[in-house]
Amino acid sequence: MPVTCRTNISSVKIAIVDFDVHHGNGTQACFEDDPSVLFISLHQHPDTLYPGSGYAYETGDGPGRGTTVNIPLSPGTDDRGYLEAFDRRAMPVVDRFKPEMLLISAGFDAHAEDPLAQLQLTDDGFADITRRLVECANQHTCGKIVSLLEGGYNLSVLGRCVVRHLIELCRE
Ligand SMILES: [Zn+2]
Repeated sequence: MPVTCRTNISSVKIAIVDFDVHHGNGTQACFEDDPSVLFISLHQHPDTLYPGSGYAYETGDGPGRGTTVNIPLSPGTDDRGYLEAFDRRAMPVVDRFKPEMLLISAGFDAHAEDPLAQLQLTDDGFADITRRLVECANQHTCGKIVSLLEGGYNLSVLGRCVVRHLIELCRE
C-alpha cells in the first residue's frame, strides 16, 4: 500500500530503534511520556550490564505508555536469538505504530568481539538487522531513515560493521 509522504515535521511520528548493547536510558528519558515517539531498545539484560535499566516492564509514562519497548537479551545471545527477538517483538510494534520517520541508534558493541559486553552478534547479524530496518523504512516512511553511530569498542570490528551497515542503508 502506498504511503503518504508528509512534510510537516512538527507532527511526524518517529520510531527510534536502538540496537546498541546498552539500554538507551537517555533516549528513553527524553521520550517516555511522548506518544508520538516510539522507542525500542534491544540490549543486554540490565542485571548484567551498565546502566542497569531497560527492563521489559519499563513501557513509558502517562500518555506515552506503550510507546517505550525494552527487549533485554541474555548474555550469550547470538545472531539467531537476537533476530528472533527483533522479528517477533520489535518489528511488529513498529508496524503497528506506522512511523513516518525511522531513527537508528546504531551501536555495534553487541558484537561477539566487543570487549564491553557479552552478546555474540557477528558482522552478518548487523547487516541482517540493518536490512530489516531499511525494509521497514521503505514500508512506512518512504525510506526516510537516519542512523546515528553509538557504541563499538573494538575499532576494527566497528569499522567492518559500519561498512556493512552503510552498504545495507545504500542498497537500492
Ligand atoms: Zn553501548
